[in-house]
Amino acid sequence: MTFSDFNFDPKLHEGLDSMGYEKPTPIQQQAVPVILEGKDIIACAQTGTGKTAAYILPVIHRMIQTDHRHLNTLVIAPTRELAQQIDQQIEGFAYYTGISSIPIYGGGDGATWDVQKRALEQGADIVVATPGRLIALLAAGTTVFDHLQHLILDEADRMLDMGFYEDIIKIVSYLPKERQTLLFSATMPPKIRALATKILREPAEINIAIAKPAAGIDQQAYLVYDTQKEPLLQHILKTYSWNSIILFASRKETVKKLDHALRRLGVKAKAFHSDLEQTEREEILRAFKNKQVNFLIGTDVLSRGIDVEGISMVINWDVPPDPEDYVHRIGRTARAETTGTAITFVNEIDQKRFHSIETLIGTEVSKKELPEFLGEGPAYNPQKKIKTGFNNRRGKFSRNRKPRKQA
Ligand code: AMP
Repeated sequence: MTFSDFNFDPKLHEGLDSMGYEKPTPIQQQAVPVILEGKDIIACAQTGTGKTAAYILPVIHRMIQTDHRHLNTLVIAPTRELAQQIDQQIEGFAYYTGISSIPIYGGGDGATWDVQKRALEQGADIVVATPGRLIALLAAGTTVFDHLQHLILDEADRMLDMGFYEDIIKIVSYLPKERQTLLFSATMPPKIRALATKILREPAEINIAIAKPAAGIDQQAYLVYDTQKEPLLQHILKTYSWNSIILFASRKETVKKLDHALRRLGVKAKAFHSDLEQTEREEILRAFKNKQVNFLIGTDVLSRGIDVEGISMVINWDVPPDPEDYVHRIGRTARAETTGTAITFVNEIDQKRFHSIETLIGTEVSKKELPEFLGEGPAYNPQKKIKTGFNNRRGKFSRNRKPRKQA
């Protein structure tokens, strides 16, 4: 199958050609014809599968075919990085069509607020927004959705995890009832089904392998005590071949510590977390995309919000709290059918959680032997109850609780 089979408008084809797209991915093959028919869909597909193009290409095609002088399409995404990325992709696809898009997200100063407000009121055909900022603008009296035809929820599971359920319902209450709604989610927990029942109409269901990492990712894990993590990281950086790395940690405090530790080791890395100003975050991502920086350390904010090709390695300093986050983290490498390596450090406390990940992805991840100089790590026994408190192997106080999520 090629993109010609969709009979897209020639202007849209030009955009696709200039972006180097040749063959639709499985989610695109399945979703595009159904969206072109005008049906609602609920699609289970993770990032890295080509889901953005799957929903936006048919929507742009429909817009070209119809009168689209008003705000026609609203895309809601969980993070500003993802919103920006979707907006950039739209810009590429729609380059020859005259269709415009704007991203709307929090942060920035009063001037940004005014620009976003004006853009909402006067201009763009497509708005890509994070729920919080959109709600704030709507609450400030900006109502512009009278002619809206498409609502798209991207990474819906993530938005619900971040507590945006009420906001989404509120936003939907501002939209015309006659519209096409497309819901994309990496996983399909019951709360997503409940949301779908509320806002979709007789949706077609599309399911691209539930939360399975891309086949090109070589997944490995090391069973370690916390004290072994830093020398292991050093060893990996020395012995594996890599050209760009993302090192993930669940907490921003850990990201900051790792930033210092790597500096001490002479590794030039950039830390990315929610304490940074929006402009700093953008600058870091830009530098990473342009390959001026080849090492990022970040929390899960980064796991959803970065689309850079050619990342050869992802290292998980710890096991993410939610199994889906693991899929998102390692999905940063091996984008669009290339290959990459994803290595996870699993301490005793994280073993149980890692086991849930293996269950979710339906694969047992290969456990590598520690290099000899590090001595033995713990055995893999995910069912074992781990004592918590001062005497555990973490060498610091920890309780058996779900780590706080970072945003
Ligand atoms: P997504 O799942 O939408 O985050 O897309 C993942 C990456 O794959 C992005 O860099 C897209 O530009 C790229 N991509 C999506 N569809 C295609 C395609 N049909 N051909 C080539 N690259 C694609």
